[in-house]
Amino acid sequence: MIVLGADESAEEICEAASEAKEQLASCNLSVPDPVTVEITNSMPGNCLGLYHCDDNLVQLLPIEAYATHLASSPDSLFGHLEPEVFFESVLRHELVHASLETMPCPYEACPATKEFAAYTMQVWFLPVADRAPFDRRASEVERPAFRDGVSAMALMMVPELFIANAYAYLTQQDDPCRLMSKVADGEIIFDLPPR
Ligand SMILES: [Zn+2]
Repeated sequence: MIVLGADESAEEICEAASEAKEQLASCNLSVPDPVTVEITNSMPGNCLGLYHCDDNLVQLLPIEAYATHLASSPDSLFGHLEPEVFFESVLRHELVHASLETMPCPYEACPATKEFAAYTMQVWFLPVADRAPFDRRASEVERPAFRDGVSAMALMMVPELFIANAYAYLTQQDDPCRLMSKVADGEIIFDLPPR
């Protein structure tokens, strides 16, 4: 793991990345080696994190930027997290994208499937207390969770609902990490054929 632009927090970020990599490996997602993690202020649009497949590069904002983001949106899904915890969760999200580089996709793109994996792993490996609000909401979702709620359309139109639906869907599986391995292998695709 290579860390750029992080100054004095480089070591900490490197450790967080290694931990995230281990967490993902325990759920059947393998992050390629090496991945570069760059801390930068120049991120397009409102992006909180980015993965560039061409360069195996994850870009994240400095931790202060996440603190500002969280403070400005306390009612958002992740609004209860400490900036460090949120930072690590975004890092995990982007590393999932890195791990899905070789995921077979029968269509031009599979955004719903990739974001399903990225967001659910972002939440799944949160510290238990931080994950509690997500677990509570997921337990209120009817069974079986509606797979249509995990669509590219939902992702685009109502991203917070997409994340809640995705997490509910994951947690309703007998073996969530087995589902994740099927996602990585292209056996389960949440995207639909283009119409
Ligand atoms: Zn993503």
